[in-house]
Amino acid sequence: MTLRSHSPKPNRCKHCKERMPEDKARHVLHPECIDPWVAIQQAKQNRARVAKQRKLAELDKRETRAKLIEKKGRGYWIAAAQKEFNTFIRLRDQLAGHPCISSGRPLNWTGNAVDAGHYRSRGSAPHLRFDERNCHAQSKQENRYASGNVVDYRLGLIARIGLESVEVLEADQESRKWSIDDLKQIKATYAAKVRELKARTE
Ligand SMILES: [Zn+2]
Repeated sequence: MTLRSHSPKPNRCKHCKERMPEDKARHVLHPECIDPWVAIQQAKQNRARVAKQRKLAELDKRETRAKLIEKKGRGYWIAAAQKEFNTFIRLRDQLAGHPCISSGRPLNWTGNAVDAGHYRSRGSAPHLRFDERNCHAQSKQENRYASGNVVDYRLGLIARIGLESVEVLEADQESRKWSIDDLKQIKATYAAKVRELKARTE
């Protein structure tokens, strides 16, 4: 008995996979198969290179974004926390089925017609910007074009939280100093509350 080749695999062209003559070395190509095979290998390499570059660019972008956020000042974090707080206020009042706090009319929750309206405005009472008693779902119409309709807002607010709480709000002049870390915490707290409310409706 004679020993055969070490490998049971037949000798085939790498491109067309056809059997090569026995005397040819393994892993070879027909002369006419060399060019198309090289072209396929190069295309594979190019795809891999492009994918890698794209991934690096994405990582770079993420890192840049993280660095930019790290550099943001209090103004950025106040706005970010306020956005989350306001989302919570709208969702809270929507789930409770509340009408507009000042007009008493039903709110249209489809689209973008409802604001989180502050009773004492963020401009004149910035220390109450994150006070849940001071902020309620209100139609955009009332909040933006009727200057918040403060007189009716007060009546609606008394009905909602009681005269005593309204008077506490009205007397509150104590300024709050939120650090950036405080603001990040407020944002995280309201994001969690929003998630909780959303989970309750599912
Ligand atoms: Zn071939």
